[in-house]
Amino acid sequence: MDNLISKKLLQKCPVCGENYNHSKVKLLEANDSYILSYFKCQKCETGVAMKAVFMPTGMIGQAVITDLEADEIMRFKNNNESITSSDVLYMYDFMKQGEDVLKEIK
Ligand SMILES: [Zn+2]
Repeated sequence: MDNLISKKLLQKCPVCGENYNHSKVKLLEANDSYILSYFKCQKCETGVAMKAVFMPTGMIGQAVITDLEADEIMRFKNNNESITSSDVLYMYDFMKQGEDVLKEIK
């Protein structure tokens, strides 16, 4: 189910337009209210992190183009011990950049 949602939200590379090979989708994190997944374009190698949040009215999806690899994203998320203010700022920017590709799925 989680990968299905990812497929709905993101079908083509936002950079080069190549259709995604969805077998390459990496599911990074999932729970009842939220999923985070990662795609890497097989053509131009652009990484896209995709976050979907389940709302009472539907689902909000946010895709962010990133040059981070999937494991680097997880390191950001899980590295609570030695997180610095610049890391927080970086993560904040990272999440904010997605606004122009905001999609809503009912
Ligand atoms: Zn591409």
